Amino acid sequence: MSPLFSDTIVALSTPPGAGALAVLRLSGPAAVAITAALFSKKSFAQATGHTLHYGTLRHPGNGEILDEVVAALYRGPRSFTREDVVEISCHGSDYVVRQVLAALLREGARLAEAGEFTKRAFLNGAMDLAQAEAVADLIAADSALSHRVALNQLRGGFSQELRELRARLIKFAALLELELDFGEEDVEFADRTGLAHLLAEVRAVVAGLLRSFELGNVIKNGITAVIAGRPNAGKSTLLNALLREERAIVSAIPGTTRDFIEDEVSIDGLRFRFVDTAGLRDNPADEIEAIGVARTRQRVRQAALLLYLFDLTELTPEEVRAEIQELTNGLDLPVMAVGNKTDLASAEDIAAFVSGFRSSQANQLSEMPLVLLAAGQNHGLEALQQALVDQVRGTALENNASATIVTNVRHARALEIAASHLAAVQTGLDTSRGTELLAADLRHALAALGEITGEISSEDLLTSIFTQFCIGK
Ligand code: GDP
Ligand code: ZN
Repeated sequence: MSPLFSDTIVALSTPPGAGALAVLRLSGPAAVAITAALFSKKSFAQATGHTLHYGTLRHPGNGEILDEVVAALYRGPRSFTREDVVEISCHGSDYVVRQVLAALLREGARLAEAGEFTKRAFLNGAMDLAQAEAVADLIAADSALSHRVALNQLRGGFSQELRELRARLIKFAALLELELDFGEEDVEFADRTGLAHLLAEVRAVVAGLLRSFELGNVIKNGITAVIAGRPNAGKSTLLNALLREERAIVSAIPGTTRDFIEDEVSIDGLRFRFVDTAGLRDNPADEIEAIGVARTRQRVRQAALLLYLFDLTELTPEEVRAEIQELTNGLDLPVMAVGNKTDLASAEDIAAFVSGFRSSQANQLSEMPLVLLAAGQNHGLEALQQALVDQVRGTALENNASATIVTNVRHARALEIAASHLAAVQTGLDTSRGTELLAADLRHALAALGEITGEISSEDLLTSIFTQFCIGK
């Protein structure tokens, strides 16, 4: 393959600032020659790929030693960008990095734009667009699960699934176009029944991918779990215990938590955003508290999960049910009942509560996860954490039989567009619409699917994607 780019780019690939090491990366036809011009190791220019070279870099003008470095050499196409790539590990001081960078620029390298290495990797065919975006996700991944999802996407799992579907649709599209070429004559090359079957299959996959986007969002952005309940139930205490730091105000006066205090915590690779709320009471003691109660209800509406916290010694299962019912009225929201202050209840009282809760005639309660703990004593928190993780994983498995999870907004949008055009093709088939309209809808659907993997891409699209990367990636 002849190279697409004639210039050689360079950038600092490690974070700026002092560190033990800094890595400068070059990519392009002159990557080796530019490095060799500064490098004490004379065999470098002729060296084979996948080799490491130790030596000194000298200022090209005054011959002054800039640093002792190790240069890793990758010959294209066996490199990240498929071009010749040199990675220079030098000492991680800003001064050294600036000096080395300046010398490389003077020898003819150009400073890379944001994401330009990955963009070259894509344009040189080393990866498709979804994989290139996964590079960005991987760099940003901050939980075990988001890391795994990005890695899966980088390996091409998602792209593979889409490419296969697209290839099958393209066959039909080609047959439809052929019918159009024949013009007047009433020929049907494309078997309509076969198309209908394929269409149903593709639409199901696209719908599944779209559903997985909801889960993908949760993994990327964290699941919002709102802690609600009566004043003094122990909400702030529970939040503190979960966050293991004194962020929320704990006090013995009812109704003191007036604002929302929230933070994120990672449990078993899943990111949760816990939100503490003002206490819920029928007759708020004052106006400020009344505002707090209204905002609590609003936060519950935005939650992905509700932790209804109550004082075990205070409420009966029936009262718990009534309060949850009122809070979630009309919402389709997973709820977990969390009974607090087990240290104040006798073993018999606890057993009686649990059996009353489980035997409740309202099936809403008999099925609901119930966790009992003493937040103030740090007791039973592991059980709650386990229940939270089970709850999310359970929902994840239900929604997502295939391993593919869509995390990218651009992908989700393209899938939505594809879905609507595929629906139009379906309607067209059902109503025996003309070949021309069928073919047009199919083309639009194919274009939307192709945009995800970059089989169809515009310069605008590429620019908007790659400028989201930072320099050096
Ligand atoms: P909130 O109004 O729901 O946020 O409740 P707080 O977290 O402010 O707690 C109210 C009171 O209950 C405080 O005095 C806490 O120390 C106390 N408390 C919280 N959890 C427990 C617990 O597990 N056992 C006992 N005995 N007291 C607790
Ligand atoms: Zn509170």
